[in-house]
Amino acid sequence: MSNLRFHAVKESMSRIPVQIEERERRSELFGSHTFNETAMRQHLSKDAYKGVMSAIKKGTKIDRNIADQVASSMKDWALSKGATHYTHWFQPLTGATAEKHDAFFETVGAGMAVEKFEGSQLVQQEPDASSFPNGGIRNTFEARGYTAWDPTSPAFVYGTTLCIPTVFVAYTGEALDYKTPLLRALQAVDSAAVDVCKYFDKNVKKVNASLGWEQEYFLIDSALVNSRPDLVLTGRTLLGHSSAKGQQLDDHYFGTIPNRALSYMRDLEHECMLLGIPVKTRHNEVAPNQFELAPIYDEANLAVDHNSLLMDVMNKVAERHNFRVLFHEKPFAGVNGSGKHNNWSLSTDTGINLLSPSKTPMSNLQFLTFFINTIKAVNEYEELLRAAIASASNDHRLGANEAPPAIISVFIGAQLTKVLHDLENVTKGKLSPQEKTDLKLNVVGKIPEILLDNTDRNRTSPFAFTGNKFEFRAVGSRSNCASAMTVLNTIVAKQLIDFKQEVDVLIAKKDMKKDDAIFNVLREYIKQSKRILFEGNGYSDEWEKEAKKRKLSNNKTTPEALKAKISESSLKLFEDLNVMNRIESEARYEIEMEEYILRIQIESRVIGDIARNHVVPTAIKYQNTLIENVSGLKEVYGTGFKKLAKEQMSLIEQISGHIEMINTKITQMIDARKSANNIDDIEKKADAYCFKVMPFFDEIRYHSDKLELLVDDEIWPLTKYRELLFTK
Ligand code: ADP
Ligand code: MG
Repeated sequence: MSNLRFHAVKESMSRIPVQIEERERRSELFGSHTFNETAMRQHLSKDAYKGVMSAIKKGTKIDRNIADQVASSMKDWALSKGATHYTHWFQPLTGATAEKHDAFFETVGAGMAVEKFEGSQLVQQEPDASSFPNGGIRNTFEARGYTAWDPTSPAFVYGTTLCIPTVFVAYTGEALDYKTPLLRALQAVDSAAVDVCKYFDKNVKKVNASLGWEQEYFLIDSALVNSRPDLVLTGRTLLGHSSAKGQQLDDHYFGTIPNRALSYMRDLEHECMLLGIPVKTRHNEVAPNQFELAPIYDEANLAVDHNSLLMDVMNKVAERHNFRVLFHEKPFAGVNGSGKHNNWSLSTDTGINLLSPSKTPMSNLQFLTFFINTIKAVNEYEELLRAAIASASNDHRLGANEAPPAIISVFIGAQLTKVLHDLENVTKGKLSPQEKTDLKLNVVGKIPEILLDNTDRNRTSPFAFTGNKFEFRAVGSRSNCASAMTVLNTIVAKQLIDFKQEVDVLIAKKDMKKDDAIFNVLREYIKQSKRILFEGNGYSDEWEKEAKKRKLSNNKTTPEALKAKISESSLKLFEDLNVMNRIESEARYEIEMEEYILRIQIESRVIGDIARNHVVPTAIKYQNTLIENVSGLKEVYGTGFKKLAKEQMSLIEQISGHIEMINTKITQMIDARKSANNIDDIEKKADAYCFKVMPFFDEIRYHSDKLELLVDDEIWPLTKYRELLFTK
């Protein structure tokens, strides 16, 4: 094993950056492997083009005849891009993307063959999907699953395969994937937001949610990763003493991107351009060998697809560069973990960003309406929002060793805090003309277009307003953005529906003018949502205490957090908005709990294995060397040896102590695991893994990491932190 470590280190040091040539401009490459609007206009008949566009824009059905035409043109286009196969591309609840390739190729008798692709194959497929997680849905209904084309996300050619984005549902209609509830949530927020927009502009017909994600990741040499069983099997290091130098000097953040990593990024960006993923920003992150990639934001469904596709492409491109991408939220203890900030806003088909302050008082009243309703939605459903981002790996960030905390709060900056304060004091009931003018001129009208203090971002806030969008920062780097986006758009939709109702009641029953009614409802919302607003340091004990007083949830672990997904209020919310019925919500809860249990179980087995089979034998080997040395000294020096062998003897004893602790703790952990495995109730089982099994990890690690400091470096079997983090 120690051989493997040194072999890996040697191999990693001999790498040279892969040469990347960029001959074409990115703007010319962009989207050239996607069957986007331009390609459709070129390749489809007028009728077919109209049919697809109406499906995209209005959600109309595509009839069989049109589907056949689209399929045929799509096939010809894909063949011209070098595709030989097609696949329905979907996002099952495993977190990875799924695809099953079929060739276009078909025999037609007499030893002849053609390339064929029909409308029915484009529109619907039945993958043998029995081994995808379904949370009991398919067992209950004995229904098969099928995938169905989502025309709102363009098909693309990746490698030699035409990929058709699809939803994945059971025959009984229940969603088995991430995309289906997301599409329903986006529809809900669209319709609710359009209704509210009508107060301000009758021309608004559609509101789109936008998403701009920022993907953080670690890029580690593949030989080094392969030398660590824990990284290979769990995506994170379960053992390993921190390096003498970590990120203390802040010398990595925004530093020069190392050559090998840069050539990887350029290669990756080239692929992204072909696939129409509008990546724009790249930089070093805080931890050594940690980086970030961000695109220009897009309509949320498309952005979610892009992120899922990107993670897959990142893995594939990494192979060419002898890298492995670590998407885990906390692959290394003691240095920063990775997140995936979700920048979110709402925009109208008239070109207005509803979360952007602007020049006129009236459009600013619209801005404030959406701004305050979002805050209220987060306040009402903070616990559900926390649940949306819960996972075994994200627990290592939230509520553990780094910001943001597990407590959801909203940061809005000093200027908007003042605006809310002023609005909170408006008169109840009808406003005098004087007050209204004053409000419009001096409060609503004075919100600066660019909110300067928001550039001074509060990095510890999990949900921050950053000038023209909210940034949900607690999302984990490994996760599919759809979870967070489904919840956020659903709760905002619900809130906007309530808002509209309340305003309408005031207009109808209290004979108020529209503006008066809006001011009145917003005033109450501000009062009701105060507890969620927090401008201070979210990563502090004081805030934890304060949050408790404010009755904000602080669910630090996944089993605790996930419960909010099946609370009566959440079940009802998803049901009322047609995002998920109860069966779907409950199934998801079960799948996520199950996944949590499995992940901790695997980690527990891996840590037990490495500590007992790699670390302890190495420590014994070194101890034997020391013992030999001590007996040699005794032979040579007789009774005087003790003085000379003092340090060695102390080492021998320390090593024994650590070995004993490791073995005891592993045995206890295995017992705890056995008891946990005997529990049938999924909640109790998850709790047992969380509170009875996992605590042993830190104890075992503590003693193993001490041994790492004592044992001869020459024989230490596990590639060390300094090697993993500082090899470029
Ligand atoms: P940061 O300083 O946090 O990196 P950026 O300004 O670079 O912030 O933006 C990060 C992400 O936010 C990018 O993906 C960007 O496209 C996206 N973004 C910008 N404006 C919006 C918006 N109105 N709605 C959604 N996302 C947006
Ligand atoms: Mg950001």
